[in-house]
Amino acid sequence: MSHTNLEPTKDTKSESDRDARILRQGRKLFIREFEKQLKQLNSLLDTIQSAPAVDELNQFYRIIHTLKGSSPIFGYVRIGKLAEDLVRIWEWTQSLDSKIDEILVPISPVEESTTRSVQILREMNMEYDIGLTEIQMDEQQDPGGGSMLGSLKSRLLLVDDDGVLRSYLTRRLQLDDCVVDEAADVESATKLLRQHTYDLVILDLMMHPQSGYELFEFLKEDPTLKWLPLIVLSGRNDLNDKVRCFHLGADDYVTKPFQYEELAARIYGLLKRTKNFEQLAFRDPLTGVFNRRYFDLQIGMELQRIERYPAPISLVFIDIDFFKKINDTYGHHVGDIVLQGLAHLLQTNLRSTDLLARFGGEEFVIALPNTAMEQAVTTVQEILNKVRANPVAQYEGQTFSITFSGGVAEWQQGMTVAEWVSKADEAMYQAKQQGRNRIMGAVQENETHSNKAAAAPLIQKKSLLIVDDDPILRAILTSHLEHLAITITHAADGEKALDLLLSKKFDACILDGMMPKLDGFSLLEQLQKDSRLSKGDMKVLMLSGKKKEDDVVKGLHMGADDYMTKPFSLVELEARVKKLMNLE
Ligand code: GH3
Ligand code: MG
Ligand code: MG
Repeated sequence: MSHTNLEPTKDTKSESDRDARILRQGRKLFIREFEKQLKQLNSLLDTIQSAPAVDELNQFYRIIHTLKGSSPIFGYVRIGKLAEDLVRIWEWTQSLDSKIDEILVPISPVEESTTRSVQILREMNMEYDIGLTEIQMDEQQDPGGGSMLGSLKSRLLLVDDDGVLRSYLTRRLQLDDCVVDEAADVESATKLLRQHTYDLVILDLMMHPQSGYELFEFLKEDPTLKWLPLIVLSGRNDLNDKVRCFHLGADDYVTKPFQYEELAARIYGLLKRTKNFEQLAFRDPLTGVFNRRYFDLQIGMELQRIERYPAPISLVFIDIDFFKKINDTYGHHVGDIVLQGLAHLLQTNLRSTDLLARFGGEEFVIALPNTAMEQAVTTVQEILNKVRANPVAQYEGQTFSITFSGGVAEWQQGMTVAEWVSKADEAMYQAKQQGRNRIMGAVQENETHSNKAAAAPLIQKKSLLIVDDDPILRAILTSHLEHLAITITHAADGEKALDLLLSKKFDACILDGMMPKLDGFSLLEQLQKDSRLSKGDMKVLMLSGKKKEDDVVKGLHMGADDYMTKPFSLVELEARVKKLMNLE
């Protein structure tokens, strides 16, 4: 029994293959024919315009009438529609007496019909161009791969009030595998720019009611959009326009009329440069802080350094609370601005040696070198206080406030970067669990790591506490002393130092005499009085701005072990710290 009816057989398959081949050949023939007809139509129209004659009119009419019927057969519906329009425009000539003299053809309706036809023929030309491209791509038998633009997988926004040019460019670009959105005016363009992320904008300068220049203004003022690659299309080859556009930030300027190939090549060049740049760069394009790639690279180097010069280092994992709500309520665009605001605030509240990176969507990581966990917690807590107190972003007169949750983990011997990050992430998750809007330190698993550490000789590093209200001086001292085999902790005032001293023993302390809140002398006094603090073996090196004999005596009397007046030499300071801490 034959089973030809039960499943698609070779025969039916090859039949449909053959159909497709025939249709392709038909389309090819049609487009070739169409090219000739277009040429004829154009030259006939020229003749009709200068000297209207019945013969030419009839020839013209015959061609458009044929086109009207044939184009839909091969699937060229748009060409068919355009031909239909032409037929309607020229219908009146069919009632003319073929015997009449050319002089008698009425001039005024010819003029009107010709003007309307010029525009339609222009559109037909574009259709021809598209048809030809399709056929050429078909023949390359390499769908997609043939187009350079297509390899970049880009989304473009085309802003032009000329509907014909717009739809032509859109379809050509789509054939090149670009995703293209169209806008006919500045207002709809701004709307689209808020909704989607584009790789490039093509902008017509002359538009109504708002000119292209107004879109420039919009792009320039938006930090997320101001780097968007932009090509200006202009009907005028005017030097002033060009200069103005480049000043406003255009990347390229193309004068109409242009060849599609040239525009495509310019788009390609611009996109390629931008994409390369983004890949090479270590910055997150939205917020300007380092990206995860850079973080991974840098953190590896940081840990290498610690192996040589042991010091504490902490990692903070930050995640914005209920961020989705911001996006959902005010839009993704506001979400973006909030991310930028937080990134900016974080960056300005960190030391230059701290490493801030955007880890993912609304997550940031910060590595704090020479910082033990407690201190990292304090630092991030202070930042959170600031975030709570002030809106992080402003948009169209409205302000936006957020909170975040943070987790902190100090690096421990033997930990991989991944383990370290996930510890900080876990602590952050704990912070979320406990109600968000807070910072949590990770549980220090001394047991787990002491096993590994036991194998290698564990160097018990000495610890130094630097108490100074001047951040620059703290940074200088740290960078100058960090090569010593010690761990360095900071406090910006006496009160913070007291907190730290309550929780941890230090081998030495560099103490500024003059500080707000609680000065160095009062701190020394507290150390003597409070039994929980007992200065014990901790060596204290007092720093003071004034070289007053009284102060020196007072300090030494209150338990300071050494005394230096500002400005002091760093070499001398290092020598004294080494001596106090018994290093070497
Ligand atoms: P939770 O307090 O539990 O962290 O809640 P959440 O809403 O902050 O967290 P969730 O992870 O549910 O949502 C994070 C949202 O962040 C979802 C995502 O759409 C958004 N997001 C990620 N990246 C970006 C970005 O670049 N811009 C904007 N606007 N939103 C982003
Ligand atoms: Mg998240
Ligand atoms: Mg979140």
